[in-house]
Amino acid sequence: MAEQAVDPPIKPANGRVGCDGSAGQPGEWQSRGTGERVSFTAEVKDELSRIVSDHEACKKAELSALVRIEGHLSGKYRLELVTELAPVARIAVRLLHEIYHLKTEITTRRSVLHKTYSYLITVPAQVGLKEALEDLGIISESGLEMGVVSRLVQEHCCLVSYLRGAFLGGGFIANPKRDFHFELSCGYESLAHGLVALLAQNTIAAKAIMRRNSWIVYIKGAEPIVDFLALVGAHRAVLAIEDVRVTKSIRNDENRRVNAEMANQAKSVEASLTQIQNIQLLIDEKKLDTLPRALQEVALLRLAHPDVSLRELGELATPPLSKSAINHRIRRIDELVQKALKEEEPEGAQD
Ligand SMILES: [Zn+2]
Repeated sequence: MAEQAVDPPIKPANGRVGCDGSAGQPGEWQSRGTGERVSFTAEVKDELSRIVSDHEACKKAELSALVRIEGHLSGKYRLELVTELAPVARIAVRLLHEIYHLKTEITTRRSVLHKTYSYLITVPAQVGLKEALEDLGIISESGLEMGVVSRLVQEHCCLVSYLRGAFLGGGFIANPKRDFHFELSCGYESLAHGLVALLAQNTIAAKAIMRRNSWIVYIKGAEPIVDFLALVGAHRAVLAIEDVRVTKSIRNDENRRVNAEMANQAKSVEASLTQIQNIQLLIDEKKLDTLPRALQEVALLRLAHPDVSLRELGELATPPLSKSAINHRIRRIDELVQKALKEEEPEGAQD
């Protein structure tokens, strides 16, 4: 899909080639620029920026996606790329030099308010820039190319490079210690759907949604996020996520065990309370004496030790009783109380 070129200058919607979903939205820029959340993203991007392909077409695919997402195009032609991450700035400059020998200028800005840096890479109007933009599938005779240009992603290695470039540009991945969340801000609908299709070719299920005037591709769940990272070569990040998943699953097992223990504990406390109420009832009704001696002993033991488990209660008896023996006696007491509640004379108390 191509957008009609306005001549001069080219004016794509909101003045960009693509958009990273954050520039021009200070709130979001801030949340992505500070705190722990961004640091995992920054780590992943740092790792990805170190992958150097020697396949010329791969380099072009990666740069194309990066320019499509982070680039701003004006005049005929001047290209600007904005990123908060030095590794991303470096790779953009390196590829622009290596592939097209283009002259670039880099400006570093520091946001005093957000304590973050941003890097502005300017590719001023020069001979060869228009051809480079055409070669990268950013512009064509009909104007701006808005989607994924298929000739750039013919080979699998190039497709992977394209996805890597897209992530370097608009990718966000939450710290896996908190949750598994992945998204790629890519601005335009056709690009979002194009990326979803590329991911689907690699059996990674992704969805495209529009949020705040910008299209986002997101991946849900740890498994497909790990698949994506492995695909684009972020192996350190994959290990980090697997590590967290193992820790989380151990913690879950432990939580389940503690919960089960607490549930049992609660059950036995409740049971003990009922037993004590029953015994108290027998005492109030002056019927404790009517119980067989063995049951009286257990009843008094329970009153004296309301907090202990049945097993421990058995151990406190003289002579000690097994858990099933004490359990049996407690049940007998309960039954007798039930009878006593129904009748004036608890006949069962005679046995
Ligand atoms: Zn390739």
